[in-house]
Amino acid sequence: MQPDVPCEPVQPLSVERDSPWRHRFAAGAPDVLYFDASSIGPMPADAPARMATLLDAGWRVARRRAWNESDWLQQPASLGARIAPVLGAGPGDVLVCDSTTVNQYKLLRFALAACAPRRVLVVESGVFPSNRYAAEGIARAGLAELRLIDSSAALQAALAPGDVAAVALSHVDYRSGDRWAMAETTALVRAAGATVVWDLSHSAGSLGIALGESDFAVGCGYKYLCGGPGAPAFLYVHPRWQDAAWPAICGWMGHADTFAFEPGFRAAPGVARHQAATPSVIANTAFGAAADIWREVPPAHLDARHALLSQTLIDVVESRCAGYGIDLAGPREAARRGGHVAWRFAEAGRLAQALVEAGVVVSARKPDALRFSPHPLTTTTAEVLEAVERLHAILASGRWREPRFGGASV
Ligand SMILES: *Cc1c(COP(=O)(O)O)cnc(C)c1O
Repeated sequence: MQPDVPCEPVQPLSVERDSPWRHRFAAGAPDVLYFDASSIGPMPADAPARMATLLDAGWRVARRRAWNESDWLQQPASLGARIAPVLGAGPGDVLVCDSTTVNQYKLLRFALAACAPRRVLVVESGVFPSNRYAAEGIARAGLAELRLIDSSAALQAALAPGDVAAVALSHVDYRSGDRWAMAETTALVRAAGATVVWDLSHSAGSLGIALGESDFAVGCGYKYLCGGPGAPAFLYVHPRWQDAAWPAICGWMGHADTFAFEPGFRAAPGVARHQAATPSVIANTAFGAAADIWREVPPAHLDARHALLSQTLIDVVESRCAGYGIDLAGPREAARRGGHVAWRFAEAGRLAQALVEAGVVVSARKPDALRFSPHPLTTTTAEVLEAVERLHAILASGRWREPRFGGASV
């Protein structure tokens, strides 16, 4: 199908509008346009030097003494304090540890303990599967009852019986990019006597977040936050709950006096109790490079960059690629979308592979979502325009239909 579309490339916007933090990140592969910050964010330029110092001065030379002489034990709290501003959280309310799924499990259990005898967990049915699995596992163990919702309208009905302990919501949907209205939703949940557990995996580092009155949150370190492949996740607990219950996993690092080696558990005050075990020093050191950038970035800058990049992408794809069966899948209103921009295309998996071959790294999610995830600090509007030109070339030539694009891809 050859649609009748104007063939004038859209004029580039000014490059001075690039983020002033762009130079703090290392360039990626030459001629590759990276639009997959929702999978793995770009690398801070000084991450390799920090890793080299850790390995040499820390592991090779200091070994055990580094626990005393360096910041290894403080990293979970200090990383949390440095990323707290972009989450709209207090510096002492965030801890970096474990993975998102594990933290989700821990905080759901914690919310259940804090809100007993309420024992219902409300979960979105189509949420990122791991979040739902974590809740299903808790219910299966007899510790909660699950109530699934499929829309924001269903939330009100789910809360009505007055038995909900926690509502677990993904702030930004991993497929469509739909964003929940955080303040209003939190107020609704709290008015029903329940708590909210936000998963910020697709918004932390992409948007300015204001956790405000939110009870709990978790999120990924390796996506927009640029903590590195497999980076630890974070968890947040509002001060009103911090000392309300024992953590779900009681371990020596969450003890009030770890090195006293007391026989019985006493929970550390605040979020520190959720650090069950030895921190991942190597991963935390990589994350530190990004955290030192985040501590400087005003949340409003992220919002402005996100709105500019996502709107430019939508405008240019819609003007340049109209008639090829690629349609905006997520919200049109900037305040209703987060993270990536999702497109619906019947053969999204093939198109994503053809784009990657053409040097535009995007991702696809079943059944038909194509995700463009710019990074607010590194992606430029010029890159957006160039990516859309390459997309247009693939659509106009029909290259995505070639048999080599049929295989599975992450
Ligand atoms: C990426 C993602 C996760 C990943 O969880 P891990 O435990 O880090 O593997 C969890 N939840 C959401 C919503 C995600 O997008």
